[in-house]
Amino acid sequence: MSDNKARNDRRGKTRAGAGRTPDIATLRRKLARSRAKGLPKDLEARGRRVLDAYLGALESRDVPADAVLSELASGEAARKLAEMTGQELRAQQPAILASAACGAGCAYCCILLDGDGGLITEAEAQRLHAALGPVAGAADGRDWHPRACPALDPATQNCRAYDARPTVCRSFLSTDVDACRTNAAGGSADGSGMLGNHLDYLAVIALSRDLLKGTRRVATYSLENLAKAAVEGLPLDEALSAARHKSAELEHTCRDIGRS
Ligand code: SF4
Ligand code: SF4
Repeated sequence: MSDNKARNDRRGKTRAGAGRTPDIATLRRKLARSRAKGLPKDLEARGRRVLDAYLGALESRDVPADAVLSELASGEAARKLAEMTGQELRAQQPAILASAACGAGCAYCCILLDGDGGLITEAEAQRLHAALGPVAGAADGRDWHPRACPALDPATQNCRAYDARPTVCRSFLSTDVDACRTNAAGGSADGSGMLGNHLDYLAVIALSRDLLKGTRRVATYSLENLAKAAVEGLPLDEALSAARHKSAELEHTCRDIGRS
């Protein structure tokens, strides 16, 4: 367990007061009443079904409740479930995937004009920080474009944390690279967007937060600020602190994406 994770777990237990870990059956009952604030009801209900199936599978394998709580709190459950529903989606071979224009070194989508690069979970933030450690201090994406993600290689425009890139990067795709170029210059061309599994990801994070209220903290982070802190060589705890969102950010993100 990392120092940071141990700190988070301790912090969670302190916030819990008595700190008694609910069992998985209790969590599943509570999940039936939990809310994904900001998301439309149908997306919330889908997220609840996906998360309940996941908890049911862990329950049947007798996974310790403490480990389950840690996965929910770190957002690892949300990442795994998004990956799972993403694979199901890809297996159906939707037209948008067949005509996707994405490829290595194509990085207009890594120019982060709006917001803070997107929402990532604590587990994703930790993984991204670890992946960028070896390139701390080197030239970064901002040497290619002032608004590029710091994780980008300025010479090749490849992601230097490709295997550790968060769900928000894995879910984004486009059928039109010219539209991406236009949008990276401040335009608003059609042709790009998120795969549907990103909605499951957000729903599971939001439900996890409601489910663990008073037990563990479910924090979210800014991709751009985390990558910036990592390439500038900040240790993990300082990078997390620099990139941590205010708690309202998750609901705002859910509301925005639910409307789109
Ligand atoms: S989303 Fe656009 S810019 Fe990003 S890889 Fe795909 S085509 Fe290229
Ligand atoms: S983490 Fe990698 S894929 Fe994601 S925005 Fe940054 S450079 Fe692009």
